[in-house]
This record gives sequence, C-alpha cells and structure tokens, in this order.
Amino acid sequence: MINVDQSERLKSLPPYLFIRLDKMKAEAKARGVDVIDLGIGDPDQPTHTHIIEAMKRALDDPANHRYPSTAGLEAFQEAAAGYMARRFKVDINPRTVVSLIGSKEGIAHFPLAYLNIGDAALVPSPAYPVYKIGTLFAGGKSYTMGLEAERNFLPDLDAIPQAVAQSAKIMFLNYPNNPTSAVADKDFFERAVAFARRHEILILHDAAYAEIAFDGFEPPSILETPGAFDCALELHSLSKTFNMTGWRIGFAVGCPPAVASLARVKSNIDSGVFQAVQMAAVQALEKGEADIKQIRGLYQARRDVLAEGLASLGLEFKKPRASFYIWARVPSGYSSEEFVATLLEQAGIMSSPGVGYGPEGEGYFRLALIVDINRMSEAVARMRKIKL
Ligand SMILES: *Cc1c(COP(=O)(O)O)cnc(C)c1O
Repeated sequence: MINVDQSERLKSLPPYLFIRLDKMKAEAKARGVDVIDLGIGDPDQPTHTHIIEAMKRALDDPANHRYPSTAGLEAFQEAAAGYMARRFKVDINPRTVVSLIGSKEGIAHFPLAYLNIGDAALVPSPAYPVYKIGTLFAGGKSYTMGLEAERNFLPDLDAIPQAVAQSAKIMFLNYPNNPTSAVADKDFFERAVAFARRHEILILHDAAYAEIAFDGFEPPSILETPGAFDCALELHSLSKTFNMTGWRIGFAVGCPPAVASLARVKSNIDSGVFQAVQMAAVQALEKGEADIKQIRGLYQARRDVLAEGLASLGLEFKKPRASFYIWARVPSGYSSEEFVATLLEQAGIMSSPGVGYGPEGEGYFRLALIVDINRMSEAVARMRKIKL
C-alpha cells in the first residue's frame, strides 16, 4: 500500500462516534445478548406494496434504463408540486422541483453552491451531522446555534452576533427535529425568514420528518411563510414518510435560484435518480395518503408505550409531537456515552448518545421508535431492572 496523505478536509472530520457504538453492539450480539436496537433512525417497516409494484412496472420500460435528468422526470416534479399544494397549500412551479438522491445528498451538496473558502454557515447543535460536514467539505466555517430545552430547541436568532449574521451565507434548520423531536410553529418560521432576509442568508430547511407527527399535529412547511421564496429552500424526503430509506429519493423546492444552484452542483457530480425509483415516488406522493396515516398511527402507539415507561422510570423528557425519537436527559452521574454504554451492557438496549449530535447534545440520549410495541415494553421492563 502506498502512503498517501489524506486531504486536510478528510482529516479534519470529527471522529465518527457511531462506529465505536456499532462495535459495542456487535460485541454484545456476539456474547449472545438479544439487543433491542433503538439506536439508528431507520424505519423497521417495509415499503408499502403499491409503491413496490409501481417500481416493478417502471423497471420493464427501457426508457427508464437510461441516464435520468438532474431535475427529475416531469411526472416526478408534478407529483412533488402536487404534494406541496395539497399538504401545505404551497404553490410550486413543477419545473423548479429538483430530485435528490435522498435529502442527505442535497444537504451535503448545497454548501458547494454558495460557500467560498472561509465563508460561514449557521449550523444548529445538537443536529444531524451532515449540515456541519457539508459546510466543512465546501471549505466553510460553521457557527454553532445551540439548541436548548428552555427554548424548545429552537435557535435563539437574537443571540447570533451581528458580525456573524452579516457574514453568514447559509442557515440550516430542521423541524420536526432530529435528534430533539422539537417542532417549529409558523411564528418561528416567520422570525427565521425575517432574519434571513435582513441579513441576506439562504435558509436550507430539512423537512425529512414533515409527515411523522402525532395527535393530529401537521408540521408546517417554511415555504408557507410570506417571503420564504426569497430566501429559503426546503428539502423533502420519502425515506421516513414512506419507509423508503434504502430507495434514496427526495426533492428540493423553494427559492428558485437556490434550488437551481443546487441542481447545477449536482449536474456536475451525480446523474440523477434512477427513473424507476422516481416512478415509485410518484405513486407514493400521489397515492400514499393512507400510508402516511398508517405510519403515523404506528409510531404514535409506540411513542405512547415508551413515553409512559420512561416517565414511570423517572426519566426527564418531553413527549414528542413529531419525529420518531424520544430525546431524554441521562440520569445524573453519567455522561451521555457512559449512559448509552450502561444501557447496552446492563439491559441490551442500543440508544444514541446526545454528544454524537454535537457537544450541545451532551446530557441527553436518543431512543428511536423503530421496534414494535412488545419489544418497546420489553425495553422498558429491562430498564426497570437496572439501577439508574
Ligand atoms: C434521516 C434524515 C435525513 C436523510 O434522509 P434521506 O432522504 O434518506 O437522505 C435528513 N435529515 C435528517 C434530519 C434525518 O434524520
């Protein structure tokens, strides 16, 4: 093996905590522990049959075997625009919709369109790690917006120093939020849009959990906010909404030049989404309303079992109104990593340490609602037996 020095950008990546956790999980399994995995945010349920059937039909059409366009099939663009109109009353010109190979791909590529070396992006913490890493890969600097329980895990825009606000070019937001399960209301989006317009900042709103909500709550789109089309793009994903994480499909909509710039980056890097996958997505977006209802009901029932159990154990958390996570305080005396290790060692339960989502996540751990109710009850029963 020749000795080639990795790029500074790769060397500067934070160590990936989850590799160590995966190793711990593998070791526990090897010891024969029946691990209840509430660690990763990946739905356990299969994609619904009518969506799979749509893909099967599309596979037989040779037109779908060729390179797709970057933006996506017209049928896909229209399905995405139709969904935005029905669900959020947001009017999108279908020709401005851009398909994504999952929203992660769009998040990671977007900073390349707007950040020069050293430019700042406003990045929440704790957060999905890709905002920070996409910024870093583009040569940008992240300015951390800490999310705190006292503010319902919404960033304090007034606390951003004037100089930072003036120089920042991008702000990342994500509601319903991973990992905190917090939600944003229209009032917050109005303040964010006003801030972005005042300081000429583009907002990338990651709406991956827009459909995972409970008790009748319908998370809003930032694009419902007056003025949002001047400064915000929103990334939607079929991954969590339709149990389609493996299929790799999402879309970007909103501020037309910002979405077009993302498409320009992508046209130079990837070659779009396999058209048969796009046709499956058309089916999901146009005919998937019942699926969404079913999926919401499933997670809501699991949430209720886990929330009741955790509360009876005296753990401190807010019952989620959306997302499929419970974000709870670790009991005193533990770091988040120590507590996650303890849960695995003593109860065979895999969870995620808050610190894995940034230093501001220390003191918390995250449980994903990705096992059935019986396993959920079993997890609570096992936790009851360990001394917290
Ligand atoms: C799961 C997740 C995504 C990624 O979704 P894909 O569309 O599968 O790439 C994006 N953002 C957040 C916050 C997520 O949790």
